[in-house]
Amino acid sequence: GDCAGNPSISLPGNLYQPERSNSQGLDLADEATLHALADVLSASRTWGGEGDHAVLNPANLQDVVGHIVFASAESVAEAISTAEIASTEWGVLSADQRALCLEKAADVLEDEMQPLMGLIIREAGKSYANAVAEIREAVDFLRYYAARSREVFSEPTSKPLGVVACISPWNFPLAIFLGQVAAALAAGNVVLAKPAEETPLIAQEAVRILHEAGVPEFAVQLVAGAGNVGAQLVRDPRVAGVLFTGSTEVARLIQKQLADRLNPDGTPVPLIAETGGQNALIVDSSALSEQVVADTLSSAFDSAGQRCSALRLLCLQEESADRVLTMLKGAMTELSTGNPQLLSTDIGPVISSEAQAGILRHIEEMRAKGYRVYQAPLSAGCEEGMFVPPTLIEIPSIAVLKREIFGPVLHVVRYPRAGLDRLMDDINATGYALTFGVHTRIDRTIARVTERTHAGNVYVNRNLVGAVVGVQPFGGHGLSGTGPKAGGPLYLRRLLGVSPPLPLS
Ligand code: NAP
Repeated sequence: GDCAGNPSISLPGNLYQPERSNSQGLDLADEATLHALADVLSASRTWGGEGDHAVLNPANLQDVVGHIVFASAESVAEAISTAEIASTEWGVLSADQRALCLEKAADVLEDEMQPLMGLIIREAGKSYANAVAEIREAVDFLRYYAARSREVFSEPTSKPLGVVACISPWNFPLAIFLGQVAAALAAGNVVLAKPAEETPLIAQEAVRILHEAGVPEFAVQLVAGAGNVGAQLVRDPRVAGVLFTGSTEVARLIQKQLADRLNPDGTPVPLIAETGGQNALIVDSSALSEQVVADTLSSAFDSAGQRCSALRLLCLQEESADRVLTMLKGAMTELSTGNPQLLSTDIGPVISSEAQAGILRHIEEMRAKGYRVYQAPLSAGCEEGMFVPPTLIEIPSIAVLKREIFGPVLHVVRYPRAGLDRLMDDINATGYALTFGVHTRIDRTIARVTERTHAGNVYVNRNLVGAVVGVQPFGGHGLSGTGPKAGGPLYLRRLLGVSPPLPLS
């Protein structure tokens, strides 16, 4: 599912750098690999260093993963000063020198894959397969943006923005964190990197690896802390651009802040915001039910539904809805939800007690409205951590969904055979437009819905999750993001300053 292979795809104009290979990852069927991973996990190593902030394992709150210092307002201001003074030193290196550092970091990540997987599994509650995919994606981002930057900077007018803030979420604590940082660095900027407060330890390791790979300490600085650290970066007039991935609500706050100021050259402060989704999958009565069930399970429940791309709304044509629902509920009972340190676990915990409480509250609200709720069982031992059982809720209409529920909760709505256009209008009316899928064996239906959807990434007869860097650029429209798509050919250009005009010859 998520661990797509090495795509050797060739597109017109060399747009997708076909000479670059995607990371191969680990073979989880290999005994020696599994032993090494078990050792890493059983060592109960503590990460980070001295620090007043303890990071807890969401699967077991007794397990302290490590400690870290959260930045004070003074130290954030100091980090911005250091970055500003030093920005030209990184910016004047050749694109090739910068790209080589990023490629070296990618190699180190692959060399250190097992301990880093151990950290991701404990800090973010990811399954083994998700942890491998996470590291592979981070490696791909580093190599992809390095390759793109060589091309972008072959044009003489390209110049960096200066100091850039990268603000990232906990759900891809390495891949999104490093993806943003790699892009900003590849474009010659210096970076203040603010990870989510739940996952600062893997971010700290990522920054250590960048430094070891030759990126100077001043060029990328970690500023760990809570949301106020992000807000301080956004407010500071010395920050010339913001890369944000997270909730739509926080993106709007940032956009408001940035609207109040201009960069010294008189241009607006660029913001790339990648945000939430209300992602739908339409299934008509011609679809193969077995495939629909498998793709629905992975889309809705993998990573405990904590993917921006995850399926939130399954739309079943009335004629086949009962059959699909019966099979789906049966398959849900076979999912193993519990300790992600077991290879047999499919679904781990949600990230925090706040997240758990919010998701459970939503489920109870839906139940109180009289909607039918079906929940899969949890494994033994789940009392120690922040688990939510995979949940299916049958709702009467899309309009009852008021916000993105970021967890293992799938809503199901039925639509009549003649109601496809109305259904597409209702999906579009949510305002979100991130991922969208259709399962059908009728070509006309594929054409009709793919033409009408506003979603950034559209999937036909497959699951909705797991975009591959450089092959499936990822990002949405409307409430789901500003673009340009991450892992795509246009991303670096948004991170460049206004270029002086080409000299007339
Ligand atoms: P979040 O609460 O919006 O937080 C994202 C980041 O913003 C965190 O580092 C957070 O710090 C920081 N932050 C909070 N308040 C801020 C403020 N006022 N100013 C500046 N920064 C601030 O999102 P999350 O819960 O971490 O992540 C889940 C969300 O991300 C979901 O909505 C999901 O759909 C979205 N997401 C989108 C994509 C995509 O590609 N479109 C990918 C992944 C996730 P703290 O953590 O310390 O509060």
